Amino acid sequence: CTESGKARPVIPEFEQGKPVAVLTAQPIGRLLDYRAPEGGCATGDFVRVPLGPRKVVGVVWGAGQSALDPARLRDVICVLDLPPMGEAMRTFLIRAADYTLTPLWAMLRLATRAPGLAEGPVMQKVYRRGGAAPARLTQARARVLDVLEGYGGLPVTMGELSAQAGVSTSVVRGLVTAGTVLEEDTPRDRPYPRLDAARPGKPLAPDQATAAGLLRAAVRAGAYGTTLLKGVTGSGKTEVYLEAVAECLARGRQVLVLLPEIALTAEFLTRVEDRFAARPAEWHSGVTMTERRRCWRMVGQGGAQLVVGARSALFLPFRDLGLIVVDEEHDSSYKQEDGVLYNARDMAVLRASLGAAQVVLASATPSLESWANAEAGKYARLNLGARFGAGGMPRMRAVDMRVEAVPPGRWISPSLERAVGARVRAGQQAMLFLNRRGYAPVTVCRACGHQIGCSQCDARMVEHRFRKRLVCHQCGENRPVPEACPSCGVAGKLAALGPGVERLAEEAAVLFPEARLAVLSSDIFGSARALKAQIEAIAAGEADLIIGTQLVAKGHNFPKLTLVGVIDADLGLQGSDLRAAEHTFQLMRQVAGRAGRGAQKGQALLQTWQPDHPVIRAILTGDEEGFWRAEAGQRKAAGMPPFGRLAGIILSAPAPETAFDFGTALARHDGPLRRIGAQVFGPAPAPIARIRGRHRVRLLVKVTKGAPLQDAIADWLAPHTPPAGLRLAVDIDPQSF
Ligand code: ADP
Ligand code: ZN
Repeated sequence: CTESGKARPVIPEFEQGKPVAVLTAQPIGRLLDYRAPEGGCATGDFVRVPLGPRKVVGVVWGAGQSALDPARLRDVICVLDLPPMGEAMRTFLIRAADYTLTPLWAMLRLATRAPGLAEGPVMQKVYRRGGAAPARLTQARARVLDVLEGYGGLPVTMGELSAQAGVSTSVVRGLVTAGTVLEEDTPRDRPYPRLDAARPGKPLAPDQATAAGLLRAAVRAGAYGTTLLKGVTGSGKTEVYLEAVAECLARGRQVLVLLPEIALTAEFLTRVEDRFAARPAEWHSGVTMTERRRCWRMVGQGGAQLVVGARSALFLPFRDLGLIVVDEEHDSSYKQEDGVLYNARDMAVLRASLGAAQVVLASATPSLESWANAEAGKYARLNLGARFGAGGMPRMRAVDMRVEAVPPGRWISPSLERAVGARVRAGQQAMLFLNRRGYAPVTVCRACGHQIGCSQCDARMVEHRFRKRLVCHQCGENRPVPEACPSCGVAGKLAALGPGVERLAEEAAVLFPEARLAVLSSDIFGSARALKAQIEAIAAGEADLIIGTQLVAKGHNFPKLTLVGVIDADLGLQGSDLRAAEHTFQLMRQVAGRAGRGAQKGQALLQTWQPDHPVIRAILTGDEEGFWRAEAGQRKAAGMPPFGRLAGIILSAPAPETAFDFGTALARHDGPLRRIGAQVFGPAPAPIARIRGRHRVRLLVKVTKGAPLQDAIADWLAPHTPPAGLRLAVDIDPQSF
């Protein structure tokens, strides 16, 4: 341990030698008792404790509980020089664990996922790009410079830099000697620059000003509350919630802004900088370890006023969090589907309610959950009317594929082709949207009919022609496109079926030879930085025709874009997922909303085989209230979320029988569930039935709202011990049902 330096209270809560209970992030089902160290300790203190032969970090959770003679307990090694975990945060972890039926240690692991937490505030050497050009550019040196480039000027430690570049430290040292890389000594805990909350924002339109005034007042009141801020893309929601951010900062409380996609952070950071004259802290998987550690510590010390981040930022140890903004709150990426299964939107509300904070849920197309909560009066609701400035939503029209003459192997209808051609000739931008990565979704053998699938998952292999590989979108397995069919061995008969964005780009290049094409798909870009550069180039007008997947639907602002063509508007309506209508409605409205954000009126064309489908009609007419009411009516009648509650029990095992047999046994012993009036369905194959070699089976528990679902599930599962090799995960409020 390092010297703390901080003065500790004269009379500690637990004096030296007193037993204390410590929570660690290790998979142990209970708190462990230790004796308080020299100088004592208090509830919430981060400590280092011995665990078997290891030393691990933990949090003092309260007085010791064991009946053991304290003399037989081991000693806490030391109290770490970290801000103690406050009561609101501890309660949040407990309540989140209870809600998601996750062990508390796993919650603490989420909350302490920053590297080097246990190390003290010493100086460290960091590296960044210098001015001098290298005399000799070896491959190893080039890799180092690439890595630094990727970090965009942020300092990196030697360990991280050499590991990322895959070079020895001497390569970096050589570059330092050459002046190409700068070595600096910085304190590990540098506060972030102060944001100037007093700076005025843009003059607001009347409906913006009203909304901003209400949000400011809510923040000033210093109590919990959630507001659904609804308004079409471009209506100025961001501008409005930045007012709430300013109010919260001015009151000295911290702010967290959650974004659904890392690619959106760059644009948002620039806006924050324009508004508050400094850059905020960033927290997501694209941030260096050094920066993450700094962010974690500064959040706890109050040296970070505003954090912009991904869902996991919710578990940062904020000292006094006063406002959480969840932008694009309907986005399904807020649901964590691996490890601890939680929905960041719901956890944001929980966290705020425990810490007298405000939540703003912003969306053009809210989730049915939030819509229902607003209807029920649990959330306040603010609507922004029309689009800010010119425009308004684009004109929407269906292209009826039943009457268009589209030759086989082509996907752009004559109507869409004419519309795109006209826009491009007029010097405007057009976008073609297809929610499918890769070249073709299916590779089939024309000799035997075999479709190439993943060896580990229940999924087809998708051809990626840019990379010349077949890729599984479930697990990432990939291999070269084979010459011969892996099933019948006949060569030269493999054919690509159906369109992906790469193939669409090929077709577009033939139809519009004069247009400059830009393909935006997450897998084409090696780094967030390359993607950001591409997005900026498009915004600057350096492309005429943009071809993209889901990635383009989210938040970006392309002022010259006036036409959006949706290649397959029916895509999301297939399958049995009850949420399909909601998701398709949201995605289509959002994609269409990309058009006409500048001065020109926009247009959206939706290619569909079912122009009379109620969801397609709702998208076209833009009758949102009507759509939500119809959708809500159906869900209510079926007792489905958000009017009823669901929980999934996912059982996975190498052999399908193992999972099915255990699932059947669980379903048979459903006493605790029946006592709360819950029904259990299944076991049935899970929405993804096989992934990474494991077969997945799901039980679905359904109950009316207000019943003690989590307690009943815990009682139900407790007596059953899963057989060897079987994993059980509880998914409260599953995304698909
Ligand atoms: P949303 O978050 O609803 O998509 P934004 O807040 O991003 O909308 O606003 C859309 C565009 O309009 C942005 O370029 C923004 O800078 C601009 N804008 C919004 N409100 C104002 C305002 N009051 N004055 C000037 N420009 C504004
Ligand atoms: Zn796979």
